[in-house]
Amino acid sequence: MANVTLRNVRKTYLGGFEAIKGVNVDVGDGQFCVLVGPSGCGKSTLLRMVAGLETVTGGEIDIGGRVVNQVEPADRDIAMVFQNYALYPHMSVFNNMAYGLRNRGMKETEIKSRVDEAARVLELTPMLERKPRQLSGGQRQRVAMGRAIVRQPKVFLFDEPLSNLDAKLRIAMRVEIRKLQRRLNTTSIYVTHDQLEAMTLADILVVMNGGQVEQVGNPLAIYEKP
Ligand code: ADP
Ligand code: ADP
Repeated sequence: MANVTLRNVRKTYLGGFEAIKGVNVDVGDGQFCVLVGPSGCGKSTLLRMVAGLETVTGGEIDIGGRVVNQVEPADRDIAMVFQNYALYPHMSVFNNMAYGLRNRGMKETEIKSRVDEAARVLELTPMLERKPRQLSGGQRQRVAMGRAIVRQPKVFLFDEPLSNLDAKLRIAMRVEIRKLQRRLNTTSIYVTHDQLEAMTLADILVVMNGGQVEQVGNPLAIYEKP
C-alpha cells in the first residue's frame, strides 16, 4: 500500500493550454479517491500524470513517500483500468490476465497462483478457459480488472471504467468494485463524471472544475451541502 500526494500539480499542454492549475490532493493508504467533475475539467489529465502517461509541468506527485515525476512509469508500481479495456480476443481469460506478467518474465508457477487468486476474487474461475467473446460485458470488465489485480500494485488507477456498460451493469459493477476495494485495500484513484458512482465509491471525493479542485472531502458532507 502507499499514499498518493499531489502538491501544486500543474499541466500546460504544448500550445499553451493550462489544463491543471495547481492541484493539491492527499490520498491515504488504502483509501478510495474519486475524481468527479464535468467533461473537460481535467480529471483524465490528472490521472494520466499519476500514471506517468503525461508529463507533469509543475508541482510534485508523490507515491509512497517518493516523488515520481521524474521516475519511469514502469517503476511506479501502479496499474490502470481503462474505459476501453480491449482484451486480446484470441487469448483465453487466463492468458489475458497472465499476459502482462509473462512480459515481465515472471515464473509460470507464480503467474498461475496470481491469476487463480484474482479469478477467485472476481468470480471468474469457471471462465478461465473461455475467450472474451464467450463472456458477458460485465465478465469482460472483470477480466480487465483482473489484469490490473494480478500485478499486485501499490496503487490502482481507474479511468471511467464503467462508462461503456449499460445502466444495469454499471450499478452491479459499482457494487463489485466497492467490495473488491474492501477486500484488497489498495490505494485507488477513480475518475468518473457520474455523481452517483462517485458517491457510492468514494472515501474521499475530489470535485474538479476548470482544472482546479473545487471541493475535497467525505462524499456525504459534500453532497449534503445546500
Ligand atoms: P476530463 O477528463 O475531465 O474530461 P481532460 O483531462 O481530458 O478532461 O481534458 C482537460 C482539458 O485539457 C480539456 O479542455 C481538453 O480539451 C484539454 N486537453 C486534453 N488533452 C489535451 C492535449 N493532448 N493537448 C491539448 N489539450 C488537451
Ligand atoms: P489459446 O486457446 O488462446 O491458445 P489456451 O486457453 O489454450 O489459449 O491456453 C494456452 C496456454 O495457457 C495453455 O497451454 C496453458 O499453458 C496456459 N493456461 C491457460 N489456462 C490455464 C489455466 N487455467 N491454468 C494454467 N495454465 C493455463
